[in-house]
Amino acid sequence: MAQGPRGDGLGEGLHKGLVMRCAWPVGFAQGARILEPLALSRPADDKDRRHVRHACGYGCVRCGATIYQYRTVSGSADVDDIVLLCPPCAHALAGRPGAEQALRIMRQRPVARQSQFDRRKLPYALEMPDLVVVPGVTMRKTPMPILFGGVPVLRLDAPEVPGGAVEIGITLAMAGEAPRPVVVANEWLPQGGEGDWTFERPGNRYVITSRDRSAQLILAAVTPGLLALELLRTFDGCRMLESGHNGTRIDGVACPTPAVKSQIVGMAV
Ligand SMILES: [Zn+2]
Repeated sequence: MAQGPRGDGLGEGLHKGLVMRCAWPVGFAQGARILEPLALSRPADDKDRRHVRHACGYGCVRCGATIYQYRTVSGSADVDDIVLLCPPCAHALAGRPGAEQALRIMRQRPVARQSQFDRRKLPYALEMPDLVVVPGVTMRKTPMPILFGGVPVLRLDAPEVPGGAVEIGITLAMAGEAPRPVVVANEWLPQGGEGDWTFERPGNRYVITSRDRSAQLILAAVTPGLLALELLRTFDGCRMLESGHNGTRIDGVACPTPAVKSQIVGMAV
């Protein structure tokens, strides 16, 4: 079924099916504190976070990217004052005159809920997506396509509503370090320091790069329901995993990339 521009199923309920959500402890709950406008403001309650995601159309209210943070518009921790913003949009708006007013309008009319918004360029889907891991190898409906040193580098789950954002988790490490979560269930939550990782969104790609540029992941939205891991370079201490047009390699040695379907884990290396 083709995915309509309005995002089929959005707003038809918040029931979440078999979604394996990683509950990563974070300390952004703000209670009644007053914050700076645009500060991080992650509701402590899962129901409140769901409310915000639903109101924002499951993506950044400014550009629709499905990797985002919870931020307060005016400084209040009230759920109706909280928006989803991707890191580049938050950076672009921070300190800008009129940003608060503009965000208030975006919260009422988030881009992901506008009829002219082209959802095909981003990971919105009706159900669990397939993933092209390397050229010619597709893993179908596989929540953990690559396990590296026992850790899922990429984690994919069905959107919480049909037509919503594919649930993405990403765990990476730069050279010499141990893998840590960078994205947890679509939230930009780099563990160990905001400045260690950057997120960019050129066109239909998510590009995540470590500060020292030793590690990088490029994930592209190919068609609704199909993602492609265009490039992956990550570490587990001294071991290096690379994946891209040359296939999958561990410390430079090629290893087979299996095409699998409906397996929990695609490959473990
Ligand atoms: Zn954005």
